[in-house]
Formats: sequence, structure tokens, C-alpha cells
Amino acid sequence: MAPRKGVDDPNMPYFFKLRCERCGVATKEQCVYMNEYVYHNGKRFNHIIKCKECKRVGTVELISGFGTEFTIADSGTYVPLMMFKCDGMVPEDYAFNGGWKLKMESREAIEVNLVNNEFEGSQQENGDPQPMVNNIKGRFTLQP
Ligand SMILES: [Zn+2]
Repeated sequence: MAPRKGVDDPNMPYFFKLRCERCGVATKEQCVYMNEYVYHNGKRFNHIIKCKECKRVGTVELISGFGTEFTIADSGTYVPLMMFKCDGMVPEDYAFNGGWKLKMESREAIEVNLVNNEFEGSQQENGDPQPMVNNIKGRFTLQP
């Protein structure tokens, strides 16, 4: 399982909230793409948001080259998906969404939507055994 065009797919949407480092207030869910840019103080970022409470500006950059595909052998563990370089705000509550592909042995990859942390394919459309993804979890970890 991986983003539709593989790891570092520039069109992959990443949904998560950002919590202000200064006042602790969290934003609503944000959607960030690697191929979308905004400029702030002459620098390029993938996302920028101002804290509603204290007006602190938070920036997010997506750094490619860190993701790996999630395989059946990874069940029960986590694999890295994307590196987020955040300043001013800390990401939390990663939410799975569309934009994924699921590859099963000796079959065509299918596009899957992982909203609600699961996907249930149809045996008729997708073949036997029925493709299924469930109980997937995302998290953010701090890298040194
Ligand atoms: Zn704040």
C-alpha cells in the first residue's frame, strides 16, 4: 500500500491538525500537498497558517525521500510516510483519506480511499480474496 503514484506522490493529500507551540490552541484539519506552495518572508512552504488565538504563524514543508511502502509484513507496526518540517506549530491527528493504492499479489493495483481508517473492496470488482484494509493508524514522531 502506498500513495497512488508511489511514495512522495506530489498529489497526495495529507490531512492533519496543527497545534500552536506558543499558546497550545489547535487548528482545524488542514490539507497539505507537496505540489502546492505558498510564500512567506521570501521562503517557500507547502502550507502556512496563522494561529487564531495568538496570531503566531506556523509553516509546514514536506520533505521527500523518507517514505516507504506499507507491506503486509508491516502489519501491526508503523512505516514512515512523509517527513514534515514544521515551524511554529506541531502536527497531530493525521487522518487517512483518498489518494492511496493497494497492490495485491498478481493483481492490478486498485485505488482506495482510507477514510475511517479502512477499505473494503468488493469480491466481484476486485477479485478473490476480497481486498480489505482495516484498523490503520497514523502518527507523527519527532525526528532529531
Ligand atoms: Zn497560538
